[in-house]
Amino acid sequence: MTFQDFQFNEHLAEGISSMGYTTPTPIQEMAIPIILEGNDIIACAQTGTGKTGAYLLPVLDFISKNKKHHTSALVLAPTRELAQQIDQQVEGLAYFTGISSIAVFGGGDGIAYEQQRRGIQNNVDIIIATPGRLIAHLTSGVLKLNHLTHLILDEADRMLDMGFSDDIMKIISYLPKTRQTLLFSATMPGRIRTLAKTVLNNPKQVNIAISQPAVGIDQQIYRAHNQQKTPLLLYLLKNGAYASTIIFASRKEIVKDLARELKAAKVNVSAFHSDLEQKEREEILLNFKNKQLPVIIGTDALSRGIDVEGIDLVINYDVPGDPEDYIHRIGRTARAATTGTAITFVNHRDERKLKSIEELISKPIRLIAIPDELAHIEMVKQEQNKNHSARRDRPSKGRWQNNKPKKQ
Ligand code: AMP
Repeated sequence: MTFQDFQFNEHLAEGISSMGYTTPTPIQEMAIPIILEGNDIIACAQTGTGKTGAYLLPVLDFISKNKKHHTSALVLAPTRELAQQIDQQVEGLAYFTGISSIAVFGGGDGIAYEQQRRGIQNNVDIIIATPGRLIAHLTSGVLKLNHLTHLILDEADRMLDMGFSDDIMKIISYLPKTRQTLLFSATMPGRIRTLAKTVLNNPKQVNIAISQPAVGIDQQIYRAHNQQKTPLLLYLLKNGAYASTIIFASRKEIVKDLARELKAAKVNVSAFHSDLEQKEREEILLNFKNKQLPVIIGTDALSRGIDVEGIDLVINYDVPGDPEDYIHRIGRTARAATTGTAITFVNHRDERKLKSIEELISKPIRLIAIPDELAHIEMVKQEQNKNHSARRDRPSKGRWQNNKPKKQ
């Protein structure tokens, strides 16, 4: 199948080829015809599969053929970073169509709010928004969505996790009842099905290999106790030929401490966390995208939505609590049919979490032996250790004491 088969508007087709898309991804192949026929859809697809294009392309096609002087489509997304990235995809794909869009999200200064307000008043064709800020514009009366034709809920599971359920329902109360609604979610828990029943009309369902990481990702684990983790991290960064690396840790405090330790070891790294100003976050992401910053470290907030090409290494400094988060974290590499490596450090307390991940992805993750020069590093007892790692760990037993991996 090629993009020509969809018979998109010629200006949209030009945008698609200028973005370098030659063939539709599986989710695009499945979802686009259903959406073009005017159906509501509930689609299970994670980031990295091309799911943004799967809903944007048919919506852009519709708008290009039915252009009106009012806002036609609203995309709701959980985070400002994702909203901005969707907006960038709209800009790229719609470049030759004359379709306008704006990203609306909270956290900026008064100037940003004013810019969003003016964009909204200019009747942009597509608004991509985080729910909280959109409600501010709706309740102030600046934004009217009574002619909306398309509502898209992107990463719906994450929006519910973040507590946006009431906000979503409130926003929907401002929308016309007759509209096409597209719900995309990486997972399909019961809450999403309940939401779908309330907001979708007789939807068609599309599943894309539920919760499976992209095939191009070489997944590896190292069994490492907490005192080995940072030396192992430095070893991998210094000995591997990786140009672009994301490191994930479970808490903001660990992110900050680790960034300090890596900087002290002369690694060019920035920490990305919620204590930073919006401007600082944007600057870090921009430098990372431009490959001026080779290493970025953050919490799971960074695992959603960051759409940077050419990330060759993802390191999980610890095992994420939710196996779905593992899929999201490692999905930052090997995006859209490239390859990458995802390495996870597993200490003895994280064994159970590792098991849940392996169950979810239906295969064991390849175990790599810790380098010899790091094998001697001893585990420090909780009370003797001052650093954050030890506070999260206890002395080990069994194989963790001799630190030899069970299998190779
Ligand atoms: P997404 O899953 O929507 O976050 O998309 C992941 C990445 O794949 C983005 O960088 C898209 O620009 C890219 N992409 C989406 N569709 C295609 C396609 N058909 N061919 C090549 N790249 C694509």
